[in-house]
Amino acid sequence: MKIHNFSAGPSILPTEVMHQASEAVKELNNSGLSLIEISHRSKAFIEIIEEACDLALKLTNLKGKGYKALFLQGGASQQFIMSAYNLLENKAGFVNTGTWSTKAIKEAKLLGEVIEIASSKETNFNYIPDSYQIPLDLNYLHLTTNNTIFGTQLKEIPNTKVPLIADMSSDIFSRKFDYSKFDLFYAGAQKNMGPAGTTLVIIKEDILGKVSRKIPSILDYSSHVKSGSMFNTPPVFAVYGSLLTMRWIEEQGGVESIGQKNIIKSEYLYNEIDRNPLFTGFAVKKDRSEMNATFNLVNKSHSESFDAICESAGISGLKGHRSVGGYRASIYNALPKESVDILVDCMQNLEQKI
Ligand SMILES: *Cc1c(COP(=O)(O)O)cnc(C)c1O
Repeated sequence: MKIHNFSAGPSILPTEVMHQASEAVKELNNSGLSLIEISHRSKAFIEIIEEACDLALKLTNLKGKGYKALFLQGGASQQFIMSAYNLLENKAGFVNTGTWSTKAIKEAKLLGEVIEIASSKETNFNYIPDSYQIPLDLNYLHLTTNNTIFGTQLKEIPNTKVPLIADMSSDIFSRKFDYSKFDLFYAGAQKNMGPAGTTLVIIKEDILGKVSRKIPSILDYSSHVKSGSMFNTPPVFAVYGSLLTMRWIEEQGGVESIGQKNIIKSEYLYNEIDRNPLFTGFAVKKDRSEMNATFNLVNKSHSESFDAICESAGISGLKGHRSVGGYRASIYNALPKESVDILVDCMQNLEQKI
């Protein structure tokens, strides 16, 4: 039976990426060697990581604009402290839109003054605050562009002179965006870019070197920029998997064309959530995510029937995060529209059965 993978992360990757990645584990480009047994300093791997950095800048339209792309380890979670280490001299601002922002705030507080300039915590993060003042004395303002757990997504980037940092772990490469509004953004690979194990960091070079503290080399962006993401051994498989996904995105017509498909998929699902009297959406409509759709049954006693219908249709990974409950359909770039169709069919089947 075909499985429809709605997992929030690690999550679905394009079928051809999975095939190419597993071929490369067996043998990389007729070299007689596996991708995971060659030196990271070999010509073959240097070409891979250079192409990956180049493509990341190309897809975000940042080539030649003073940005560097890095593939690091430690997950998006490491970026919470690493960004503060490198950029927080006095004061940083955060918009708190969920679990991941809350964790980023906690880490930054270890190194300086942190102010929460807005938060949607009081309504369990079901919306993105949009009316707030941004103090001009901040070293940076940190945003989370997509809240994986709560299913909200930032639609408009605030206009400000303050440097912007963003956690884009769950919506990187998912929509056309003016990425140049950000001085730094990062994304753990395993949501929308590749296998777990690497984190893409894109950074404007001229923001570095401005804090007075000593930075441990491994946490210093400059060390990684200088060494071309080869400060220490990079996670070779995750980098290669990310490269394959970025090539796939290019073949699909780039981020803009992927973004159009994502709108079609998410609208189709949200329309059913709104139409079907048995279901109710979690996030407020204006802030709904195109990547993670969160919804509940109006009557929880239907959950056994709905789960059974979903299971027999091959739907996997639909359970909501424990802090929201209900369901979460992660509909990342690689998820085909056909899988959304199947999910909508299941919702309609339940309606007919009840
Ligand atoms: C998953 C996720 C993280 C954490 O990523 P790790 O790579 O596991 O550290 C951080 N931010 C967002 C928005 C996420 O979705």
